[in-house]
Amino acid sequence: MIDQEKIKKAVALLLEGMGEDPGREGLEETPDRVARMYGEIFFGMDADAAEPLGKVFTVKDSEMVLEKDIVFYSMCEHHMMPFYGKAHIAYIPDGKVLGLSKLARTVEIYARRLQLQERMTGQIADAVVEHLSPRGVMVVLEAEHMCMTMRGVKKPGSRTVSMAVRGVFEENAGLQERFFQMLKL
Ligand code: ZN
Repeated sequence: MIDQEKIKKAVALLLEGMGEDPGREGLEETPDRVARMYGEIFFGMDADAAEPLGKVFTVKDSEMVLEKDIVFYSMCEHHMMPFYGKAHIAYIPDGKVLGLSKLARTVEIYARRLQLQERMTGQIADAVVEHLSPRGVMVVLEAEHMCMTMRGVKKPGSRTVSMAVRGVFEENAGLQERFFQMLKL
């Protein structure tokens, strides 16, 4: 559970540690402001990411469904710095499909936590497997990590791409190929 009082105290201490005077004008309300902001950007800590996947619809055909360009903002757990980008999720239904906004909602909840991009990619794939039992699912995340670009290790704009495949996507290179073709449309 997010404890805003603790975050407030910690931010004041952090400011002191940086040699700042937390009481000076301009910083006075910063601990409170950051604590409230953390409540917002980490709301996924207290939310069930699978909850939006609970409602499914029955279908007969089993053509690939792709939700692409789902924008997300997350925070890396190693540096507590933002990483942000897009998620692309494809699945091949086995009788069940999701409402259109549901995958985006699940991505949002997983993103609003302290995260690792690789873990988040797998979590999204596993949640779809668990709730939809599709024939296969493939998730690709592309993101810019501020802990890399701001510190100058990598050039700004460079992106980290991660991928998770489950079910029929695992052994079928043709299906993966089709996923990337549909991404380009
Ligand atoms: Zn990092």
